[in-house]
Amino acid sequence: MAFPATRLRRLRINPLVRERLEETQLSPSRLIAPLFVRHGRNERRPIASMPGQYQLSIDRLIHEASQLYSKGVPSVLLFGLPSRKDTRGSQAYASNGIVQKAVRALKKVLPKLLVITDLCFCEYTDHGHCGILRRGELDNDATLQLIAKTAVTQARAGADIIAPSGMIDGMVKTIRSALDRAGFKNTLIMSYAAKFVSAFYGPFRDAAECAPRFGDRRSYQMNPANAEEAFREVALDIEEGADIVMVKPALAYLDIIRRVKEKFHVPIAAYNVSGEYAMVKAAAQNGWVDEAKITREILLAIRRAGADMIITYHAKDYTNSR
Ligand SMILES: [Zn+2]
Repeated sequence: MAFPATRLRRLRINPLVRERLEETQLSPSRLIAPLFVRHGRNERRPIASMPGQYQLSIDRLIHEASQLYSKGVPSVLLFGLPSRKDTRGSQAYASNGIVQKAVRALKKVLPKLLVITDLCFCEYTDHGHCGILRRGELDNDATLQLIAKTAVTQARAGADIIAPSGMIDGMVKTIRSALDRAGFKNTLIMSYAAKFVSAFYGPFRDAAECAPRFGDRRSYQMNPANAEEAFREVALDIEEGADIVMVKPALAYLDIIRRVKEKFHVPIAAYNVSGEYAMVKAAAQNGWVDEAKITREILLAIRRAGADMIITYHAKDYTNSR
């Protein structure tokens, strides 16, 4: 039934019809706000390359999370800035580490907030790499022991979901068995399963103060040219016990999100990363794009690609602009 019997515009002319036929919904409840927590009181330090984002002390973190929660964003992903760094990243697994303290404080005030904790060592090591080094190389299996310790202290503090981000081989299996042994059978794992080496992470390194002091992360993050390898990573993490798998970054990797969804039928989180956010902010500040519209379009595209949850710095602005 071709034209004139079929007129697709008929479906779009009446907004009452158009709105009923929207295929993809973008509820703020699908968004996760990444937040940076540091020691101190009443601290709210702006992050230069990420306008609107801050390093927050715990009191201000609670305030921020409460605002997000009241606007319909029920989830946060926490990154910690320790008071001191060392070769082993010991503040990552200290029971009174900054993230552990923040989780306890958040859960006390906002028991219904979904609290996800990033688990890596690059913010906690003095060399800025994601684990223990031996002769200048990341020692995968030695790092696993610290990952297990960290997961347990985060779960004990009250984290609902542990999110290991280091792309360390065996990290999901290690965390699952450590959590189970410690009695945290229902604590979930959201694995940074397909995490690509990316220039889009630039601003984050300012935010989390975690640029490597030498070298880069090419030996553990994935080559942006590879999709098949991403599926192997995802398959392994699911086999090791990941409850939710993450694709990171999001925008330049929408094909990966879609194909992971079609192949594996598992919950997917996509990380709309710092550089993606910074580009929108910079263009909007110059008056070159309409920030609210472009943000909605970006988040909708990530949802449409197949992401069940979106980790995004736009979370608060998006709820304000609805
Ligand atoms: Zn790391």
